[in-house]
Amino acid sequence: METVAPFIEVIDEIKEAGGEVFKLCFQCGLCDTVCPWNKVRAFSMRKIIREAAFGLTEIEGEDIWRCTTCGTCPAQCPRGVKQIDVSVSLRRVATAYEIFPTSVRSARTARASLISEGNPLQGDRKKRADWAKDLSVKTYAEGMEVLYFVGCYLSYDPRMKKVATATANILKKAGVEFGILGNQENCCGESIRKTGSEEVFKRLARENIKTFIDNGVKKIIVSSPHCYHTFKNEYPEFMVNFEVVYISQYISELINEGRLELTGELAKKATYHDPCYLGRHNGLYDEPRDVLKKIPGLKLVEMEDFGKNSLCCGGGGGRIWMDTPKEERFSDLRLEQANEAGAEVLVTSCPYCITNFEESRLNLEYDDVLEIKDITEVVNEML
Ligand code: SF4
Ligand code: SF4
Repeated sequence: METVAPFIEVIDEIKEAGGEVFKLCFQCGLCDTVCPWNKVRAFSMRKIIREAAFGLTEIEGEDIWRCTTCGTCPAQCPRGVKQIDVSVSLRRVATAYEIFPTSVRSARTARASLISEGNPLQGDRKKRADWAKDLSVKTYAEGMEVLYFVGCYLSYDPRMKKVATATANILKKAGVEFGILGNQENCCGESIRKTGSEEVFKRLARENIKTFIDNGVKKIIVSSPHCYHTFKNEYPEFMVNFEVVYISQYISELINEGRLELTGELAKKATYHDPCYLGRHNGLYDEPRDVLKKIPGLKLVEMEDFGKNSLCCGGGGGRIWMDTPKEERFSDLRLEQANEAGAEVLVTSCPYCITNFEESRLNLEYDDVLEIKDITEVVNEML
């Protein structure tokens, strides 16, 4: 090991991240067995925990940036070690010293864009609501039924804007009185926090919370599992609590209440990919499947890894902004699983998953084999 705790903060940060808990690690190696990285290359969370327990960690290397925070190993560790917290704390130290290996440097660009424009995609803040220009979507006003928090990728990314449009159309068809915040909306901050930029996260969160309070927001509908997770589980650290509902939960409610009717037909085999931050991190497995099962003609099939064993797409923990060599992409494996399950459509509900899956679809030349759809796109086509 070349680096022997040159950064005194490593030890303090690790203690803060639950040092006493991860000292319980008895090096069983189960985390390495279940980690998706070991399907594509060697990576040892066990080793990271071991080194961290002694305050010895190689901060300069790539390994502290690998964890996608998928939640698989923390759910299975027999000693309750918080592997994700350890990873994030190590990234905080590296970030404090501005030490970024080459593959991680693009995350710095995302951070700069978050600071200047409130989104990681270098989109102009003033253009955040441009996707909705021709859709007569209202700006949120106090007393409306729900706030639709669109999120960064759905606001700026050309592929994901289609999902925002489908969502707005569904809400309108169901007669939901909703509004958006437009250029008052900021990134939720979830992923930048996981890259170790705690201050940027806090700034984004405080600005969003102030906007929610100033606008009298009570109920928030979200399209990204990352927004869902941070609003529900992390914003309460700021002593606030908003009702947060995921779009697939909300669609399920609208159908059950008779506000939304699915009249179309989709005579295809489809499979559903559980995004890590909806499934493992928040236990939402059934609602999206319930919605898909209500679509006339659709046959739902499961992939080899599903539900709590769902295979991560590779985009969490800020990895969506980092460079991953083609042969190391989990999303390629996921598309192969969908294909092996006989699916013609791979349905999911996360902007990172869709971005990675669309790229893998090109890499694998699956254009004629598999469609990638957000659940809102499937539902919108049935109205
Ligand atoms: S699964 Fe838990 S106890 Fe086993 S090596 Fe990993 S962190 Fe340690
Ligand atoms: S949280 Fe997921 S990606 Fe991170 S070390 Fe554990 S299994 Fe691997």
